[in-house]
Amino acid sequence: MKRDIEQLKKKHFDILVIGGGINGCAIARDAALRGAKTALIEKDDFASGASGNTTKLIHGGIRYLEQGNFKLVYEALHERAILLRTVPHLVRPLEFIIPVYKHDPRGLLKIKTGAFIYDRLAGSDNIHCHRALKKDEVISLERNIDSDNLKGAILYYDAQVDDIRLCLDNAVSAYKAGCCVANKLQAKAFIKDKGRISGVEVRDKLTPEKFFIRASIVVNATGAWSNQVIKMDKPNAAPITRPTKGVHIVYRKLPHLRAIILSAHKDKRILFIIPWRDSTIIATTDTDYNGSLDEAYASEDDVEYLLKEARRIFPGENIDKKGIITTYTGLRPLVNIQGKPTWQVSREHLIKKSNAGLISVVGGKYTTYRHLAEEVVDVALSKLKGRNFKKCITKTTGPSCLREEKLDLPQLVKQAVKEEMANTLNDLLVRRLKLPFKFLFDPGHLEEYASIMANLLGWAKSQKEAEINMYKEEVRKNTAWRQS
Ligand SMILES: Cc1cc2nc3c(=O)[nH]c(=O)nc-3n(C[C@H](O)[C@H](O)[C@H](O)COP(=O)(O)OP(=O)(O)OC[C@H]3O[C@@H](n4cnc5c(N)ncnc54)[C@H](O)[C@@H]3O)c2cc1C
Repeated sequence: MKRDIEQLKKKHFDILVIGGGINGCAIARDAALRGAKTALIEKDDFASGASGNTTKLIHGGIRYLEQGNFKLVYEALHERAILLRTVPHLVRPLEFIIPVYKHDPRGLLKIKTGAFIYDRLAGSDNIHCHRALKKDEVISLERNIDSDNLKGAILYYDAQVDDIRLCLDNAVSAYKAGCCVANKLQAKAFIKDKGRISGVEVRDKLTPEKFFIRASIVVNATGAWSNQVIKMDKPNAAPITRPTKGVHIVYRKLPHLRAIILSAHKDKRILFIIPWRDSTIIATTDTDYNGSLDEAYASEDDVEYLLKEARRIFPGENIDKKGIITTYTGLRPLVNIQGKPTWQVSREHLIKKSNAGLISVVGGKYTTYRHLAEEVVDVALSKLKGRNFKKCITKTTGPSCLREEKLDLPQLVKQAVKEEMANTLNDLLVRRLKLPFKFLFDPGHLEEYASIMANLLGWAKSQKEAEINMYKEEVRKNTAWRQS
C-alpha cells in the first residue's frame, strides 16, 4: 500500500473520506469497489482511534434490548452473520455466560427473556440458541467464578474480532480497489467553491507540507473528532457527537474459558470479562469525556471501578493492580443526545448533510460498520448525478487480505512498512504487530525493531531515538495510573 502524495495532489476525486477508523476505511473500500474515484486520509494511523481500542466484540448487544432498541439489535445480529461468513479468519464465535446473583440489578427471568428475544431476532443467522443453566451447571463449566448467592446463568453466543486487523484490511482492500490511501495526513480546512465544499487542505505530518486534495464529495468519518471537522465547514455548528471514554484493562489470564457478562453493582452497567489471547480483558467504563481527544487514557478511578467488579466474580484470584499488564482507552463517538446517562445513549448511527455538501457520519458500533458504509456510499453516490456505479458487493465479499504469517522479524517489519503503511514505531508495534506491551518486559528487542524500521525508512539516528521514546511514552501513558 503506497502512500502516493503526488496522486492525491494531482487527481480530482469523486469522494474523499476523512478518517481511517473502521467506518472511514469501509466507506472508502465500498466506494472504490463501486467504481468511484476515491481517496482516504487519516491524521494518525488506521485504527488508532476508537476502532483499535474496542472491546473486540461483534455482537447484537443483548443489553440494548433492555432499552427497547430492537432495530439496532436486529441489524447488528445480521451484520454479525455477514462478518462471520466474509471474514472468518478475523471474526470468530465466542461463548458467553451471564451468571446471575441474588443481589444483581437484573434477575434471572429478565436475562432469560432477553436471551430468548436475542435468538428470535437472529433467526436463521443465529450462531447457536442460548441455554439456561442451573447453579451446579454453571459451577461445573466455570469452576472459578463466585458460587455464593449464585442463582443460575445463561449461556449464549456472540463473536470476537481482531479489531485493528479488520480495520487495516479494509484500508488495504480499499487501496487494492483503486483508492488513494494515506495515513499521517490531517484535514485542516475546507476549500469552497460558491459555498460548496470542493476539497480539503491537508497537512502531511511526515514532511510537514501542506497541500490541497480536490473532490466532488467529502465524507467526514472522524468519529470522536467529528465536531472539529464540522466546525471547519461551519464554525458555529452544534456538536453532533458526544464523546465518551471507555477504558479496558488487559489483565493476566484469569481462570475462565468463556466471556463473562456482569451487571456492575455500583451503577448497574453491563461489564465484560473476556478471554483475549494470553490475557483477560476487563471492560469497560463509559463516562463523558471533555479532555483532549488525542490524549484519552485510564485514570486510577477507572481502573479501581473495573477491578472492584472483577474481584466480585473471581474472589479467589487476588485481583489487584499488580496483575494488570496495561490498559487501553477509546472514545465512543456517540450521537450527541444529552440528558441520558452515557450508557443509555443509543448506539445507532446518524448521517448528516451540511448545506455546503459535507456528509458526516457518527455513532454506530464496530459490528455494524459494513452496513453504515453501504448507506453512506449510497448517499454520496446519489450526489454524483449522471454517473453509473456498480452495485455494493460487501455483503458477500469481505476485505480478506490474507498475510504471510511465517515470516522472520525483518520480513514482518518489511511487510508492515511496504504493504500496510507503517510509518512510525507505534504504527508497527501497537497496530501492525500488536505488541503494544511486549517491550515493557523486553526492552532489549525494542532497539532491534527500531533498527530494521530505520533501515527501511531511512531514519537518521536521532529520528530512531525519537521513535523509541515516543513508543515508551505511549506505554507510560497507558500505565500512568500506576504512579498516582
Ligand atoms: C471503549 C470502546 C469499546 C467499544 N467496543 C465495541 C465492541 O466491542 N463492539 C462494537 O461493535 N463496537 C464497539 N465500540 C464502538 C466502535 O468502536 C465505534 O463505533 C467505531 O470504532 C467507530 O469508528 P469510527 O471510524 O467512526 O471512529 P474512529 O475509529 O475513532 O476513527 C476516526 C478516525 O478519524 C481520524 N481523524 C480525526 N480527525 C481527523 C482529521 N482532521 N483528518 C484526518 N483524520 C482525522 C482519527 O485519527 C481516527 O483514526 C466501542 C467503542 C469504544 C470507544
